[in-house]
Amino acid sequence: MKYELIIIGGGVWGCSAALTAVRAGLQSVLLIEANPGIAQESSAKAGGIVTDLVWHQDDVRWVRRSRQFYEEALALSGDSSILQRYGMLTLADPDRAALLRMRAQNLVEAGIQAEIWDYRHIQDTYPELDRLAPDVTGLWTPEDFHVNPTAYSQAVFQEARRQGLQARLGSRVKVLEPRSNEVIVHCAEERLTAERVLVTAGTWSRKLLNTAGIDIPLRPYRVQLSSLNFADGYHLPMVWDLASDVYLVPDGPHNLLAGDGTRLSEFNPDNYQTTGDDEFLANIADQTVQLMSLAETAGLRSSWAGLCGGTPDRRPLLGQVAEKVFVATGDQGFGVMRGPALGELACQVALGQAQAPQLDPLRQPYSEFPIRPGFTLEDEI
Ligand SMILES: Cc1cc2nc3c(=O)[nH]c(=O)nc-3n(C[C@H](O)[C@H](O)[C@H](O)COP(=O)(O)OP(=O)(O)OC[C@H]3O[C@@H](n4cnc5c(N)ncnc54)[C@H](O)[C@@H]3O)c2cc1C
Repeated sequence: MKYELIIIGGGVWGCSAALTAVRAGLQSVLLIEANPGIAQESSAKAGGIVTDLVWHQDDVRWVRRSRQFYEEALALSGDSSILQRYGMLTLADPDRAALLRMRAQNLVEAGIQAEIWDYRHIQDTYPELDRLAPDVTGLWTPEDFHVNPTAYSQAVFQEARRQGLQARLGSRVKVLEPRSNEVIVHCAEERLTAERVLVTAGTWSRKLLNTAGIDIPLRPYRVQLSSLNFADGYHLPMVWDLASDVYLVPDGPHNLLAGDGTRLSEFNPDNYQTTGDDEFLANIADQTVQLMSLAETAGLRSSWAGLCGGTPDRRPLLGQVAEKVFVATGDQGFGVMRGPALGELACQVALGQAQAPQLDPLRQPYSEFPIRPGFTLEDEI
C-alpha cells in the first residue's frame, strides 16, 4: 500500500497537520510517532502561553489562526484543560517602559486588546505582586490564554482519527529514502511507502532528514521550567517580568509554573538533561520571591527541561527539502502559539495548496550560527 501522505512526529505541529490532511479529503494519511502517546516531547513541556506576536505580519496571522484551532479543539472535545483564559501582565522597569508602550500600540493597531497599567492599578488588581517597584509599568493583554498542548494535540488527533487518519504510535522512523516518485519510510519493524512525507519531528527533524542526505539549519537549545506549590493558593494571571525575564503561568489553584532558564547552546535531542539544573532552580526561586513575598512559602514540586529549535534568522523552516519530502520545524520557543497554524500551512504546502517561499527550510546552509532567544520586545520596533 502507498499512503498519500505520511506525517512523522505527533506533537502540536504534526497533529494539526494531520487534521488538515484528512479535512482536505485525503483517504490514506498515516501519522507516525516514536512515543507510545501523542505530544510527549516539547509539546508536553511547554509553558503553554499563547500571546499575540506582532514582530511580523506572518506571526500576527499564525497566532490568530492557532487561537482558532485551540478554541475549536476545546469545543470539539469539551476538555476544559485545553484552554484557560487568564490574560497576561507584562512588567517593565522605567528603562523599558517605552518598549512596553510601543508593544501596546502595535497590539491595538493589530486589533488586539491591550492596556497600560500603572503600579497602583497592578497592586489593586493583583495584590500578590507585592514586591514590585513603584515605578513599574504593566501591559495587560486580557485575550492571552494558556493552553495544554498535550490535551490539544490529543483532541485534534482523536478528531483526525475519527475522520480516517491512520496512526503508528511507539514506532520510530529510522531512515527516510526519497525516490523520484515516492518516499520509503524505514521504521524498526516495517518499511512503508508514501507519495509524500511531512517531517514534523520537532528538534529531531534535522537528525531524521540527515538520514536522507538533507541538512537543515536547525540547532536545538534547552529551556527549563519549574512548578511551585502554594498550599493556600494564589490569585495571579500569566506574568512576564522583562527585567528578570521570568515568566509565571497559573497551573490550577495551587501550582504555578515559573521559567526563565534558556540555555543558548546546542543540545542533542537524544541525550540532554531533562530535569532543571541546580543553577536554574536556585535562580528561579530567588527571582520569583523578588516579585511576590508569598513565594517564600512556596514549595518546589518539580522541574524539567525540553528543547526548542533555533534557526539562523529565527524564522520557521517550512517547505520542501527533497523530491516529495517536506518539513516544518524551527519553533524558536514559540511553537505552541504558532504551531497549529504552521502545521496547517505545512500540510497545505505538502499538498500543493499553498506556498511559503519565505520559509524555505534550505534558505541557509547548516552552520554553527549563534543561537538567540526567540524574540524580544526590541524586535517589535
Ligand atoms: C520549557 C519549555 C517551555 C515552552 N513554553 C512555550 C510557551 O509558553 N509558548 C509557546 O508557544 N511555546 C513554548 N515552548 C515551545 C513549544 O513547546 C514547541 O515549540 C512546540 O511544542 C513544538 O511542537 P512540535 O510538534 O514541533 O514538536 P514536539 O512536540 O517535540 O513533537 C515532535 C514529535 O516528533 C516525534 N519524533 C521525533 N523523531 C521521530 C522519529 N524519528 N519517528 C517518529 N517520531 C519522531 C517526537 O517523539 C515528538 O513527539 C516551550 C518549550 C519548552 C521546552
